[in-house]
Amino acid sequence: MTFLPELTRPAALSEGLTGERCRCLACAHRCLLPDGGTGICGVRFNKGGELMAPWGYVSGASPDPIEKKPFFHALPGARTLSFGMFGCNFRCSFCQNWEISGVAAAAGRAPEAVSAEQLAAGAAAAGAKVLVSTYNEPLITAEWAAAVFAAGRRLGLRSAFVSNGYATPESVALLRPVMDLWKVDLKTFNPDNYSRVCGARLDRVLDGIRLIKEAGFWLEVVTLLIPGFNDSDSEIGALGAFLSGISRDIPWHLTAFHPDHLMTDVPPTTAEALYRAREIARARGLRYVYCGNVRGARGQNTVCPACGKDVIKRDGFNVSSSLLGRGGACPCGQKIPGVWE
Ligand code: SF4
Ligand SMILES: [Zn+2]
Repeated sequence: MTFLPELTRPAALSEGLTGERCRCLACAHRCLLPDGGTGICGVRFNKGGELMAPWGYVSGASPDPIEKKPFFHALPGARTLSFGMFGCNFRCSFCQNWEISGVAAAAGRAPEAVSAEQLAAGAAAAGAKVLVSTYNEPLITAEWAAAVFAAGRRLGLRSAFVSNGYATPESVALLRPVMDLWKVDLKTFNPDNYSRVCGARLDRVLDGIRLIKEAGFWLEVVTLLIPGFNDSDSEIGALGAFLSGISRDIPWHLTAFHPDHLMTDVPPTTAEALYRAREIARARGLRYVYCGNVRGARGQNTVCPACGKDVIKRDGFNVSSSLLGRGGACPCGQKIPGVWE
């Protein structure tokens, strides 16, 4: 059964093969689809040898502060218009958006038809500065996101993905001309856990992170710390070393887990566990490591690595003060990396 066939278009991220088969190039699964077949994401399908991709709807849209995505080094305090669609290419037991990410669960929810221009114009009229494709995995609807972002560019809006990082060179090339920011969820450094819990391959996520950074997107990484799953000192050290090996300036957000969905037998992450993980990551060379999802947690401010001042102070998703000057300069002269204007 195909999902919302009336809200689809022929996909750009596709390779036609013999025998009416096609290969999807949108995410690193690179599904090979026979005529009538549907990809792992449940929303891209082969119709008579042509790959069809979702188009022209949202499952929901809401104005969120950019800090909630979270981006801490991009337009502090900016309002976003965040929109989602349906479907996901991962199956994570700890998913916090499972109502829309599972196609079966979404079947009872109505999509809202909208054009790319309407969505972008609505965002600009509401005072948003950034369009964000989020809630479900945006890579599986990359063509639609690119159209929305192109419409946003014409109105002066920036754009972002909140993604699991299962990128391909083809999806990165399609998005780069119209997109600025990319947040990747890096879930674990254990290949068996990636495959068992998410149905995905660690090496492909790591390749995706490298691709995204090399292509010049502003990249921030998030890891949900789950007790007993990915919070050992050695795993946090390995994750931190990997990111720091790409760039010491990649902001890394360590966020606290709260029991949800299928993973209800695991306790929440403590603030102390977050602080310990942050120290390990900083010891691996990362300059900007943040703690999130715990009320009043330390580790939410941006600290200048040269003079040690809190250059951006935050309280939850609010920016309470910023000392940054033009181009993200600290009063001491040190440039803080990011997208500031
Ligand atoms: S987006 Fe990924 S999961 Fe979906 S069809 Fe394409 S390769 Fe498969
Ligand atoms: Zn400074």
